Amino acid sequence: MDVPLLEKLQSKFKCSKCGKCCSVGGDMELSLYDVIGIELYLDLSVDESESIFSYETIDSRNVYHVKSQRPCYFLDKLNKTCIVQGSKPDACHKYPFKLYAQGGCNLDAVLTCPVAVKMLEDHLKGVE
Ligand code: SF4
Ligand code: SF4
Repeated sequence: MDVPLLEKLQSKFKCSKCGKCCSVGGDMELSLYDVIGIELYLDLSVDESESIFSYETIDSRNVYHVKSQRPCYFLDKLNKTCIVQGSKPDACHKYPFKLYAQGGCNLDAVLTCPVAVKMLEDHLKGVE
């Protein structure tokens, strides 16, 4: 998929809030900015933050992850809503098409989303 098509799809994307992507996870990468935003939003202590996030250095970049991903630690399992909606990671804002275009997830992760699958099917059928 070319980038202009992915941008067009993302601009029309409307999340149905089914919670599926947050349930199956996707090993999303978080930045320090994401982590600090969530720490402030939830008023986490250092110990709490360390129990939630892991950290590694990849090619001189500091990359953070949510340790508990399937489902995501921040998914309200009952209501299927994100408990850090007001400060959710950049990757979650960009999912699915923009994140894929930027190399932040693979095609399997995009196809996790039923809305994305429907949009791609419509595109292939020439509906959109
Ligand atoms: S942070 Fe929120 S939006 Fe992102 S995967 Fe977790 S529950 Fe879903
Ligand atoms: S799977 Fe798609 S429609 Fe469902 S919550 Fe995730 S982004 Fe929204």
